[in-house]
Amino acid sequence: MFATLSDRLATTFKNIRGKGRLTDADIDATAREIRIALLEADVALPVVREFVGRVKERARGEEVSQALNPAQQIVKIVNDELVTILGGETRRLRYAKTGPTVIMLAGLQGAGKTTLAAKLALWLKEQGKAPLLVAADLQRPNAVNQLQVNGERVGVPVYAPQPGNGVGNPVDVARDAVEEAKRKLHDVVIVDTAGRLGIDEELMKQAADIKAAVNPDEVLFVVDAMIGQDAVNTAQAFLDGVGYDGVVLTKLDGDARGGAALSIVQITGKPVMFASNGEKMTDFDLFHPDRMAGRILD
Ligand code: GDP
Repeated sequence: MFATLSDRLATTFKNIRGKGRLTDADIDATAREIRIALLEADVALPVVREFVGRVKERARGEEVSQALNPAQQIVKIVNDELVTILGGETRRLRYAKTGPTVIMLAGLQGAGKTTLAAKLALWLKEQGKAPLLVAADLQRPNAVNQLQVNGERVGVPVYAPQPGNGVGNPVDVARDAVEEAKRKLHDVVIVDTAGRLGIDEELMKQAADIKAAVNPDEVLFVVDAMIGQDAVNTAQAFLDGVGYDGVVLTKLDGDARGGAALSIVQITGKPVMFASNGEKMTDFDLFHPDRMAGRILD
């Protein structure tokens, strides 16, 4: 187990209680501990550097509070900065003013898109929406079937290419699905798209083509929180290749420390909007920056 940042700093600060003000030397000593804690939480190195710089700046000149000891005070600054960067308040979904709201999911294979699609559909349904799931992942042989099974579990219809018509073209499937949604008065369309195990130009293009065809209100980049340091490259590649409005972190029930969240937000400037944390359809929630800050620091 890792020592928490509070434990580390308590040792560093043994001698400075009551000094009145944190000195530069005190702050430098704590910066080292903060750097280690963030690297252990899998935050990408350039993000760690920038973050520590921000914390140092804020810590300088702060009065040592009477209520908190210096270690607690620095932990509070770190926590506040994390919450600020991770988004403060949760960003809400944007709904279309007219016609169905189109939400498109993109990400690597195995990120948890298909599972997430059904979880999101259930969450929307519970808020009184009438979602339609769209199986536009025609790459992975079982993806359509998996979405249909999950759709059934959450009681949400799935639009999929008709059997017998060949595998179909995912761009057409997505476009037709939006028309179907209009006809059947669905107010949200969730489009599941194909992913590969690695970043792949052809697939990026396919996702970009689907995006151009259905003009989504929200494109969500779905990413496995367990991929740690790789998150930055993947997030950037999808931002360049497809573009997205928000991020969904999956598999937060695993033991990932959550550094991926901080790295992605800092590098892409896009907010994390939802968190997926288990195999059950109800293991899904809005993303809470304060909880993630706690996870990164604990
Ligand atoms: P896709 O290839 O992006 O569509 O990914 P899938 O939705 O098929 O998910 C890949 C695997 O991860 C499946 O075995 C899912 O059951 C599992 N999975 C998805 N989301 C979560 C999650 O939040 N927690 C856990 N533990 N497993 C998940």
